[in-house]
Amino acid sequence: MKVTQIDINVRRREPSSRPIRDALQSLPGVGSVQVVVQTDEGVSGTGDIYFGRGMGAPDALAALIEHELKPLVLGTDPAFVRGTHEALLRETEYHGSSGLTMFGIAALDTALWDCLGKARGVPCWQLWGAMHERIPAYAMVGWLNYGDDEVRRVCAQAVEQGFRAVKIKVGYPTLAEDLRRVRVVRAEIGDDVRLMVDANQSLTAKEAIRRGRAFQESGCYWWEEPIPADDIEGYAALAHALDIPIATGENLYTRHDFARFVGRGAVDIVQPDLRRAGGPTALLQIGLTADAFRRPYASHGGGPVQISVMACLPNALYLETGLLSPDSPLTLKDGCVSLPTGAGFSWA
Ligand SMILES: [Mg+2]
Repeated sequence: MKVTQIDINVRRREPSSRPIRDALQSLPGVGSVQVVVQTDEGVSGTGDIYFGRGMGAPDALAALIEHELKPLVLGTDPAFVRGTHEALLRETEYHGSSGLTMFGIAALDTALWDCLGKARGVPCWQLWGAMHERIPAYAMVGWLNYGDDEVRRVCAQAVEQGFRAVKIKVGYPTLAEDLRRVRVVRAEIGDDVRLMVDANQSLTAKEAIRRGRAFQESGCYWWEEPIPADDIEGYAALAHALDIPIATGENLYTRHDFARFVGRGAVDIVQPDLRRAGGPTALLQIGLTADAFRRPYASHGGGPVQISVMACLPNALYLETGLLSPDSPLTLKDGCVSLPTGAGFSWA
């Protein structure tokens, strides 16, 4: 089987008039890029890469895939997807296998795996060999721009939908405001639902230790991205100083960033993002590397690719998702989602 054609579709959306906000940025959600890989056997595969911000980003990514990455994938056999992944990293090394480049590699890597699963007629987790039938999931519900009433409402909805863990944004100007929000949410969800807190890189290491101690006392389950993502020494200091697990990784690129963080003892729970990691090939590598160091894996973002990867990881801890919409393919049982059943990364 050979890749004969790659279509790149840019999907622009009007930025939301009421963007969600974390402690670092506002996320108007402006579009995505879809890559469709076609083969000489008539089987195709799709990779969708979403953009939260940057009006020009989807077009810039499409151009990068078209001119830089696509020529390296045309003519390859999807069965050798890991080889193609390495070739893409090698060829982009000159300008940096990081940033937008990784978004492009992730799109193609996803499409190639999807194609291979479809060619074999099985879900990708079956290609890889799975170990979990269901994955615990939590709902990221408490955006920073939500008022108390709104945050109470979405938390109540999450619990009603069957989630047994929710995450909220923190990183308000003061610790007192953060703790007040934690109390509001705890009063709504009760003591049996886990609560994670995420400051989106907004604090200094000293302040992150101070707030981390308070979250620890409040019974929060993990303390996510308290400080800038690349501050490996800061993260190592936090992980050493605090008992509450330090979760980070959504802004790390490739398996090599994760290897440095895990090897340095700078992270307790790894949270790779499909796009920045570089696709399913990289997520599997990161997950197993973390497992070798006995560090759990919690996805950044959800979707069929992350679920399929987590199905195969011994250290799968939590899938991240939002509230389930009425048309969501996900169903919750005992706080867990089941695996996609369609070929490749198709839901059914
Ligand atoms: Mg986060």
